[in-house]
Amino acid sequence: MIIRFPIFRLFSRWITYGATTASEGSFNEGQKNFEKDLKKLMAKMKMARPVFAFQVHGDKVIDLKKRPAMQPKCDGFMTQARGLPLMVKVADCQGVLMFDPKTKTIAAIHSGWRGSIQNIIGKAVGQMKKVYGVNPKNLRVGISQSLGPCCSEFTHPKNGRQVDFWKMSTDQLQKAGVPRRQVEILGQCTKCHPRKYFSFRAGSDDRMAVFIALK
Ligand SMILES: [Zn+2]
Repeated sequence: MIIRFPIFRLFSRWITYGATTASEGSFNEGQKNFEKDLKKLMAKMKMARPVFAFQVHGDKVIDLKKRPAMQPKCDGFMTQARGLPLMVKVADCQGVLMFDPKTKTIAAIHSGWRGSIQNIIGKAVGQMKKVYGVNPKNLRVGISQSLGPCCSEFTHPKNGRQVDFWKMSTDQLQKAGVPRRQVEILGQCTKCHPRKYFSFRAGSDDRMAVFIALK
């Protein structure tokens, strides 16, 4: 089942988007069915081959004017190019999708705990503003399934051991100027639903795809 974010429903004329679950297969390039599963997803969503990165848990967001010749090393993309799907691969990390209906700009971000601490989400909003003149007030944001506060035992420099990454993300978005009502957190914990989702913490090497494309 591909998860559709209700926050984007009004805009499906312009964008294709979603998050896969375990039933769509593994989007870890190391797995032998990766190409097959990717093609199935492309066919199902009627979209071109997505761009995805060698994810490094950093805070770099790349602006794509066209399909890159080489696989980028980063944790986020943004574009105004049509037919250039952006995809991030997640297990417990958050896949964050953004759409600005005014300028028709999209972004896809991979935010794990390191990305979260580095505020990759806030930086992405800032970059969209700078490069494409996006007003954060217009942005719609969907945040995928990920490790929930129930299972986030990390040593965070400020918050101690139990961290609510969902709240951190909404706070960072609000700080960046995105109204809370325009942010949708799916709110399902990957580790608590090992049959539905892949969870690194629950022992899986598989990944789910979180993607968005301008039609
Ligand atoms: Zn949980």
